Amino acid sequence: MTNDNLFSTTISSSLKTLFIGRDLRYFDSVTSTNEVARELARAGIPEGATILANHQDAGRGRMGRTWVAPPGSSLLVSIVLRPALAEVNSLIMAAALATTRAIESATPLRASIKWPNDVEIDGKKVGGILVESEIERGQLLFAVLGTGLNVNFNPHEHADIPPTATSLSNEVGHPIGRVTLLRAYLEALEHYCLASRGGAPVWQEWRDRLETLGKWVRLTSGDSVTEGWAEDVDSSGTLYIRQSNGQITKARAGEVTLRLAQPPG
Ligand code: ATP
Repeated sequence: MTNDNLFSTTISSSLKTLFIGRDLRYFDSVTSTNEVARELARAGIPEGATILANHQDAGRGRMGRTWVAPPGSSLLVSIVLRPALAEVNSLIMAAALATTRAIESATPLRASIKWPNDVEIDGKKVGGILVESEIERGQLLFAVLGTGLNVNFNPHEHADIPPTATSLSNEVGHPIGRVTLLRAYLEALEHYCLASRGGAPVWQEWRDRLETLGKWVRLTSGDSVTEGWAEDVDSSGTLYIRQSNGQITKARAGEVTLRLAQPPG
């Protein structure tokens, strides 16, 4: 039977983690889980605290974009972390890798990552990651790691979700238990966070999962558009794009949009 009772106390009690999800707060409806997590982080909630919602009425993606999730349909989860500032770039990688692991442990699907923050199945977007941090005088006060994963609904029935999106239930043809997914996600996230803190090259596993590398892409940043081959990434997550004139453009995961495009000729 599909285990979909998100506020079940069994989530925390059977969770095999040291700190992520030990303080787990479920809300039936919030503005956005990142918003609630940020408020709680400012008030001093411990690291690893996890905010979970059945519904968001102001779900956000990057650059103020909207994240759409009908009530009860998705995994909407935000986690408060307090790593060293130097580790902040690896958080988006840890979250994306943890999401692919969760998908692959709960379904027979293979998941990949579109640089910088999307999780995909066969080139279709199934989830997005939003990392927001607060920094004061060179110190990271906290980071909030938000994930929205399309689980049990048909994104094609929603005009405000791009037609290139999918959900896990669309891909496998039946509902998937969100509790199973959530546990797998939290456990995998802790694994990657601890690995990163221990100096393991988490970014290399992230690079291996990137479907973007080797593709011709169009990068938009404000009014500037760059096209070229997505050649490689480095440990900070910066993407290297080789234009047809041989020039290399470096793209950081901030305010840029990446699309697959047709190579010239
Ligand atoms: P893109 O993935 O298009 O390059 P982005 O990475 O900036 O954009 P995100 O921050 O991941 O975008 O999320 C916001 C965008 O995702 C929205 O502008 C919309 O196009 C798309 N979107 C919104 N809701 C969903 C959803 N449930 N599933 C898939 N895509 C969605």
